[in-house]
Amino acid sequence: MPSRSEAKRLFVFDFDWTLIEADSDNWVFKHLCEELYQEQLVSVGKVQWTDLQQRLLGELFDRGVTQAQIEKTLGQIPFAPDMIEALRLMKDEGSDLYILSDANTIYIETVLKAYEIDTLFTGILTNPASFDERGRLNVVRFHGLDKEPHCCPLPCEPNLCKGQELQKLMDSQPWDQVIYMGDSTNDFCPSTRLNSHDVVLARRGLLLQKEITERPQLVKANVVYWENAKDVLLATRSIFNATGASVSKPSSSAIEHATLPALSAVESSDSKVFAQPVRA
Ligand SMILES: [Mg+2]
Repeated sequence: MPSRSEAKRLFVFDFDWTLIEADSDNWVFKHLCEELYQEQLVSVGKVQWTDLQQRLLGELFDRGVTQAQIEKTLGQIPFAPDMIEALRLMKDEGSDLYILSDANTIYIETVLKAYEIDTLFTGILTNPASFDERGRLNVVRFHGLDKEPHCCPLPCEPNLCKGQELQKLMDSQPWDQVIYMGDSTNDFCPSTRLNSHDVVLARRGLLLQKEITERPQLVKANVVYWENAKDVLLATRSIFNATGASVSKPSSSAIEHATLPALSAVESSDSKVFAQPVRA
């Protein structure tokens, strides 16, 4: 039987370039249609991202790419073994795990099932997607145009204010500690929702770190920077070891212990540089 901490923790994760080592929207087109991948690149900032995916997925279908091809390609997205070990540790310790992402349900669920870790998560909050009877993948905005704009003053996309959704999870039950992990600009708003005993796991050298550095007064939580899945695994062990099973909250010194030594900036692959400014 797994050991279980008495403290009840909520872990919430971004997906692209956080749990997985890729941007799933980029990955699909890069591996299935180079021409549409290039169109995706030049459309950055010109079209709302979810709407762009919906249009490009229609063009992918028109070019004969099948549901099976999309699912196979998604199953090949890299998911680091140490990240999976960290997730299993969190679950074994009795924590609740959620994904909060600007990808879509099909992409995320397919990847999780490919790595046989879908049962670790209590919920997935992202843009709804589904294949129709012909095998055309459709994706719509999480925060649809039929709703009032969320009007978040922080850099959230119109289709998803991650802070608002994280707040709902935080308010859903009394948590002893909340841990949010992300890498990009739209992970800043949820990072500002956490309290002083909570933890932000921010990917080093990317745009979330830039946002936190520019507006540190908005982030009350302990910030732990990480570069790779091994760092996340070490930080996870530190979070659970910080308190033992009988103490509800870690001391700040314990979290500082989890802070990783200075690492060089994450290398700039083309897709990563592309992925960061527009979404997460
Ligand atoms: Mg991301």
